Amino acid sequence: ATMPPLLSAIANAGRHGVLVKSAVVMEHLATATRVAFDKTGTLTEGAPHLTDIRLLPRASLSERQLLTLAAAAERSSEHPLARAVVTAAREAQLPLSAPDAFTSTPGRGVTAQVEGHRVDVGSPAGWETGHDRALCALVDELEQTGRTAVVVQVDGEPVGVLGLADKLRPDAAATVAHLTAVTGVRPVLLTGDNERAARRLAGEVGIADVRAGLLPQDKVAAVREMESRGDRVVLVGDGVNDAPALAAAHVGIAMGRAGSDLALDTADTVVTRDELATLPAVIELARRARRLVI
Ligand code: ADP
Ligand code: MG
Repeated sequence: ATMPPLLSAIANAGRHGVLVKSAVVMEHLATATRVAFDKTGTLTEGAPHLTDIRLLPRASLSERQLLTLAAAAERSSEHPLARAVVTAAREAQLPLSAPDAFTSTPGRGVTAQVEGHRVDVGSPAGWETGHDRALCALVDELEQTGRTAVVVQVDGEPVGVLGLADKLRPDAAATVAHLTAVTGVRPVLLTGDNERAARRLAGEVGIADVRAGLLPQDKVAAVREMESRGDRVVLVGDGVNDAPALAAAHVGIAMGRAGSDLALDTADTVVTRDELATLPAVIELARRARRLVI
């Protein structure tokens, strides 16, 4: 017996490594007008590495001490930036003590007690008003070269900045070009990272619409705003930090989550293999199925 077109499209998507749970999702994929991408782990490989350690002139500790404290605080975090800091410390054979009272704030950073000191590692967003000139200068210098800068504080005082860099996924530019030129869907970048690093990367992949410095709830608001203007939004994210925005979008695509149960709780979430190129393929497949049904 032949399968109805929608079912066969869902099965076909499965063969592309894309798990679609309902016909409604197929319909939303077919009529998408926008694809919103998260940056870290979605357009990039999500495996950043530490490139720079910068001390504030007034700080009374060494680069090694700075990295040791930051890495100890980051040990319990699953964030790709945290893993990069811990890896760099391990490679430098620094002794990492176990942190106490660890807390993490999505889109911001982490806080922990390390050897009796409170250590914060996170986004420089809070300092952008410029009341700490020396700190802003270090952050600016790193961000101008496309780095992600994170500030390290000890007992409430900033002591330095770490610079991190991540590689673009090899299929990012081709996927965005295909979406724009062939599929006719407008790409947009939604990221918690700084504006400069975001714009530089968006330029490399061909995305003109960039919204940077967003907290997880700001990503939700950005999705809702586009939808309230009549856009049908597919959001592609890493499925961890981006869970609220994935749920808010018409279709959330959790990349690299095929085979995990994490994102499956949300009916409108699709999980895919760890490949961007499946995205235009699945939108086109959903469109073909829709033409056959109507
Ligand atoms: P993206 O939208 O690019 O995936 P996130 O929302 O995960 O970014 O994080 C936004 C920003 O918050 C990062 O660029 C960084 O400055 C800061 N941040 C988040 N988690 C951490 C962490 N564990 N360590 C250091 N900085 C962090
Ligand atoms: Mg992310």
